[in-house]
Amino acid sequence: MNSNNKDLNTSHQAVTTILDSLDALVYVADMDTHELLFMNEYGRKKWGNPAGRKCWQVLQTKQTGPCSFCTNPTLLDKQGKPTGVQITEIKNTANNQWYQCRDQAVPWLDGRLVRIEVATNITDRKLMEEELHIARFKAEQLADTDALTGLNNRRAFFNLGKQLLHQAERNLTPVALIMFDLDYFKQINDQYGHALGDETLVSIARVTEGQIRSSDVLARLGGEEFAILMPQATLEQALTLAQRLSQAFFENKIGTNKGQITCTASFGVSALEVVSTKTLDSLIAEADKALYVAKNNGRNQIRAAN
Ligand code: GH3
Ligand code: MG
Ligand code: MG
Repeated sequence: MNSNNKDLNTSHQAVTTILDSLDALVYVADMDTHELLFMNEYGRKKWGNPAGRKCWQVLQTKQTGPCSFCTNPTLLDKQGKPTGVQITEIKNTANNQWYQCRDQAVPWLDGRLVRIEVATNITDRKLMEEELHIARFKAEQLADTDALTGLNNRRAFFNLGKQLLHQAERNLTPVALIMFDLDYFKQINDQYGHALGDETLVSIARVTEGQIRSSDVLARLGGEEFAILMPQATLEQALTLAQRLSQAFFENKIGTNKGQITCTASFGVSALEVVSTKTLDSLIAEADKALYVAKNNGRNQIRAAN
């Protein structure tokens, strides 16, 4: 062996040692046949010996041909020249780990262009991103939900209400609003305790849910006050629903340590035949005024805005 050959041998060994020590998969594959020409030790340990097989046979499972996410088409331009490094994030089908794959076309020892890939495991980062995504979704849901009843809260009511009115304005459809406030609710708290007061609020929420349409927006605006925004509904239809609710509350028995009780409500109803986006506030103001009249007239009754 002459000294030139010895140098070559040593540098080949050095490169192999470096590639085999990397904490990443490095492999080379023929761009036409997909045959693996090289795979470092990281790859051989995880996916086995390539032994003349193709990348999609060694690195993935249940593949009957090249992968749908194969980057080969992006690695060469129309003239067949390398386009540089292409970075993708792929979940490996053999071990379900996420990898960041840096692929590029490079000239191989015999002159043909081959694909070289360096893939690092990014599963921890991906899982963290996923957890963050779930946490954000939960926080958003909590921010829109009344914790006691699970209904929309005041914030959600105004957001959904604005969207609903936009739609009604565009479609030239009417909108109606029912607001109701439980009667003498403070007495329930005082006589049976705050916990039973809470139970009553939940019970009223469930009864109300059972009477409305899925397109109606039901919310607990605060305390013992609720609102139902009804798309495509007239004042008459809203009054009919209020009547049904009033009856359902009257029939809804709540068990206490001193026997069963019922909790009635006073209702204010308003509606708009022609909607403009500025009208949510006036719709609420009118229903609120009608509700006030219902309270003043003795409670447990329904009043329409005039
Ligand atoms: P009215 O017929 O005039 O509406 O009388 P009311 O007693 O229902 O109304 P008032 O405004 O005097 O009292 C409402 C009470 O609701 C007072 C408050 O402590 C209670 N309350 C508000 N939020 C909650 C809650 O989340 N849970 C319970 N248990 N009580 C609540
Ligand atoms: Mg009340
Ligand atoms: Mg009140």
